[in-house]
Amino acid sequence: MNKTTQLIHSVPVDELTGSISVPIYQTATYVQEAPGVNKGYDYGRSNNPTRHALEKIVAQLEDGTSGFAFATGLAAIDAVLKLLSAGDEIIAVDDIYGGAYRLFTHVYQKFGIQVRYVDTTDAQNVEKYLSDKTRLVWLESPTNPTLKISEIERITTLAHKKGALVVVDNTFASPIAQQPLRLGADIVVHSGTKYLGGHSDLVAGLVVVKSGELAEKIKFIQNASGGILGPQDCWLLIRGIETVTLRVERQCNTALRVANFLAQHEDVAEVFYPGLPDHKNHEIAARQQHGLFGGVVSFSLRENTEQAAVEFVKATTYFKLAESLGGVKSLVCHPAQMTHKSIPRERRLQAGIADSLIRLSCGIEEAEDLIADLQTAFALVNKKVLIPA
Ligand SMILES: *Cc1c(COP(=O)(O)O)cnc(C)c1O
Repeated sequence: MNKTTQLIHSVPVDELTGSISVPIYQTATYVQEAPGVNKGYDYGRSNNPTRHALEKIVAQLEDGTSGFAFATGLAAIDAVLKLLSAGDEIIAVDDIYGGAYRLFTHVYQKFGIQVRYVDTTDAQNVEKYLSDKTRLVWLESPTNPTLKISEIERITTLAHKKGALVVVDNTFASPIAQQPLRLGADIVVHSGTKYLGGHSDLVAGLVVVKSGELAEKIKFIQNASGGILGPQDCWLLIRGIETVTLRVERQCNTALRVANFLAQHEDVAEVFYPGLPDHKNHEIAARQQHGLFGGVVSFSLRENTEQAAVEFVKATTYFKLAESLGGVKSLVCHPAQMTHKSIPRERRLQAGIADSLIRLSCGIEEAEDLIADLQTAFALVNKKVLIPA
């Protein structure tokens, strides 16, 4: 069966009423016939039918055995970290999502979990640092905001030889472009806030696992720590996921056109997009992402100053200035002053995030309109910054 057909029909029809939309079970508890005799549901934190429907849909979408829904992407990441014990080590991609870095470094390090940040774009770097203590290899591909690509299949083979699990934060690719479990990874996490939700109207997180053993452990942690997604947001996320194929395919096609436009623009210094043939790991991205390179494009300006970038992000009309990505409405952000503000300038520059770096999240508007919007912004920046009055 075609993947999209399968997705649409993984959204269940309600058996009781025939409701074609999954009912929202807004309840804290469930009435029992006798102590411990129930219909499979006993308490709202432990289980909820609306959440179960979402979790099954996402498990199928990522080709895993089980899915788990959390209040935010970071709550999902936090649940995975709780698989570890003091003394364990993590090897993580060096330009990891800032919120994950904060959680690893400022929360889990004090519990005795060590994290080694490595340039995973070269699998040999991972091999070099794998030790008997390494329990997790934590990947993001593409990364944020410089869209670096790591070879998931090769890194997984290396990690498994040492007995380490591989986790992929698949937020930037989405399951439409990339299915890490099929490439050998053990766990996938998502910020459902981004492509899966797709409308910038909720925050949510997801974990999908490959094995029944991991499913039991994550299920235990989900109930023990309690960071679940509420039924209303589960319903909203299901509704978003129903159209994720259409949205992501269009967003990827648009982003490729935008990247090509930027690559030829005289005011642009560098374009970061795995769909461009001169991207370091373009071949790997083409293979592991089914030719869909994502909806995010970053670029730096030839006039490499924060001032030029600020004028640019203020000058766009359709690209709205905001954090986040993956929604139907295009967004623009200036990482140095927004998503990556907490990173010291030296470290930020080392990570390839120039003062003038701008990140675009392409929405579902017509590509020509978005390109025209960027063209207007370049003209305005030139007027204000390059030829000041
Ligand atoms: C946004 C994001 C997260 C965190 O998700 P929240 O829903 O904001 O908690 C994690 N990883 C990546 C790659 C993200 O973009």
